[in-house]
Order: sequence, then C-alpha cells, then structure tokens
Amino acid sequence: MPDFAKLLTSAAQGSDARFTGFPEFNFVGGHIDADTIPVDAMIEAISSVLAREGTDLATYGLQSGPQGYYPLRQYVAAKLDKYCAISCEAEDILLTSGSLQGMDLVNQALLNEGDIVVVEESNYGGALSRFRNLGVDMEAIPLDADGMLTDQLEIALQRLADAGRLPKFIYTVPTVHNPTGSILSLERRHELLRIAAKHDIVIVEDECYADLVWSGERPPALYALDNDQRVIHIGTFSKTVAPALRVGYVAAPWSILGYIMPLKSDAGSGALEQMLLAEFCPDKFDKHLSKINNAFQTKLDALTAAIDREFGTTASYEYPPGGIFLWVKFEPPVDTEKLALVAGAEGVAVNPGHEWSLQEDSKQFIRLCFANPSVQDIDAGITKLASICHDTFGVPEFGANKKR
Ligand code: PMP
Repeated sequence: MPDFAKLLTSAAQGSDARFTGFPEFNFVGGHIDADTIPVDAMIEAISSVLAREGTDLATYGLQSGPQGYYPLRQYVAAKLDKYCAISCEAEDILLTSGSLQGMDLVNQALLNEGDIVVVEESNYGGALSRFRNLGVDMEAIPLDADGMLTDQLEIALQRLADAGRLPKFIYTVPTVHNPTGSILSLERRHELLRIAAKHDIVIVEDECYADLVWSGERPPALYALDNDQRVIHIGTFSKTVAPALRVGYVAAPWSILGYIMPLKSDAGSGALEQMLLAEFCPDKFDKHLSKINNAFQTKLDALTAAIDREFGTTASYEYPPGGIFLWVKFEPPVDTEKLALVAGAEGVAVNPGHEWSLQEDSKQFIRLCFANPSVQDIDAGITKLASICHDTFGVPEFGANKKR
C-alpha cells in the first residue's frame, strides 16, 4: 500500500468527517426545499429531450462544443437579459459544473500566490477558503444593508495603490449577499464600477442568490452597468432549481472567456442536467421561481418568529430581502464557535460566523440556512438551540415558567 502521507502535497487537506447523514435540525450549507423540486416537470423535460436528441450523447459536448449545451446557453443569455439587464449572446457563456467550477476557473486564470483580492468582510465560506488555499491575501471591506461600503473600498484601494500592491480583482456577491442577504444599491454599483475603473481592476460578480428576491425587484447586474468589459459574471441553477444538478455558468467578454475556456479541461460538464434545464426553463422557470420564493419567505418568517420568541433581545438580525440565509448576531458571553460545536453534537447544525466572516467580532454571529428544514423543524430546532445556548452561556435567560 502506498504511503499517501508521504505523497501528499502541502495543498492536500485530510478530513476525518465521513458523511453519516444529515443532522436532525440542519441549518448549515446551502440546501433548498425538497418540496419545491419540480420532479414531474423534470421527468417530462428529460424524457422529451432524450427522445429527440439522445443520440447526441455519443459525442463529448453533444453538438454544442466545449462551452456547453447550446440551447441552455441561449436560455441563460435570455434570462440574464430579462432578470438583470445583461445583454449578451450564447457565445459569451460558458456552462460549468456548478458556479464553484466557474470560481475555480476564474481563480486559476487570474490568481497567483501572494496576490490580493478584495472581498466583502463577511462572505461565502467557499470563496474565503479558496482564496486562503491559493495563498492569496484578502482585503476585507465592510458592508451594510446596501452592500459593500464603496467609500471604504476607495480608501483601501488607494492605500494599496500607494504601497504598489493593487488587487487582481474584487470578488463580490452584490445581489442577496451570502451570508448577510444585502443587495448592493444602484448608486453603490455605479461607485464600485467607477472605483474599479480608476484602478483598472477586474470585478468578479457572483450572483448565486440573485433571483431569490421577495419583491422580485433587483438592480441591474454589475455586468449590465459596465461599459468597460471588466466584469466577470458567475451564476447558477443551484438555488433556483436544484443544487445537486451542478449547473452553473460564467458570462464574460471573449477577451477573458477565451482564457478561462481552455482551463476547463474536464471534457465538458454533465450533459443530462444541461439538457433537462434547457427543456424545463423556457416555459416553466418564471412560475417556478415565484413558487420557491414564496416557500422560502414562509420559512424565513417561521425562523424569525422562532428566534424572536426564544432569544428575545439576546439575538439580532436584519430581515433579508431574499435568499436562504439569516445572519444572526449574539452578544457576549455567547461565542458562536463554541455554540456551533455544542449544538452540532446535539443534532442542531449551524454555521459559526468565523467561517463566514473576516470581521473581528465574527464569533458573535451564526449563519442559519432556512430553506431546507421544514417549518416544524425550524421551530423545534431554534427552541433546542436556545436551550443549548442557555445551558452553555446562561443566555437567553429563562423565566421560572419556561419549560425546558
Ligand atoms: N457562490 C456563493 C455565494 C454560494 O453561496 C455558493 C454555494 N452556496 C456558490 C457560489 C456555489 O454554488 P454552486 O456551485 O452550487 O453553483
């Protein structure tokens, strides 16, 4: 047997956590609601597309070449126009195995060890860990309910420029941010583009949750507002149709897409899921989206009601305008690294803030995904979390009549 420990590179990371099933109360990760998966329509879609074009599976990339199934690229281009004012063609789109592959390709194309990227101070854990693993420094910019504080960005970039260390790109989740849920205002979108142009920096716009807005209204994408071809737009069907399909996309000007494409050396992403989506989406996506947004907001309301009831003033949050996460703040003595460990051992899984934020007080936060657990489990899970928090930190205080 080879001695793998000796063969491993320093980048390889072991794991002692084998999958043993989901926890009883699962508020972690970015799963969505099982009841919203359009199973019947998917069966219909895959059957008709396979009956019509199934023999194309004989060739890598079907009849569409390395950028992915052409009808799905056409749909993505039309959807980007309709939902976020992006005007692009199927030729400007690369289909990927989830948007994570899109991020990896962009990172591979643009980043070297020792580079700097700008990130929102609280951020997607998968992005933070990727930048760390690549040995890239992160310049963290605070954000509020209107997204990244662009005045802070301008100060930070000037400081870095003075030191001769300009970042390679600004990575941002502008529309329904993970974990805070904020939406970058139109004014700040223009500011962000102006500042990026001033320092000639690329923007990588990750729109993972951008369709999950309760009001249905969102500002145009940065890609749509950019006159300068400096924005790379990344999107996904993970949160609107199903994460297990693993279909994402990168939209970018050919001047950059032409560099990213050759790095996707996996002979193409899975064809069946691309065919399924291309058949399902044109007639059914819009209606499906309003259905899932209603379902997710109902769950958010169940979650905030349970938190208010169980934690009272000892927990605070901003009600997000969309998405699948609630970013909840606790006051000392609560330490969420410890809370997540203790709760996890008792079947209540929550994401501790330090994995989703670079801010100093990150251990005061947890991220709760409300899309996957049922309303009943949300209620019971938060009740149990409050009880665990009380036992561990004495917070929230329970009156004599509180049954535990
Ligand atoms: N970007 C963000 C901000 C995310 O939160 C996630 C996962 N939840 C991803 C990208 C990756 O999504 P996927 O690979 O499933 O498209």
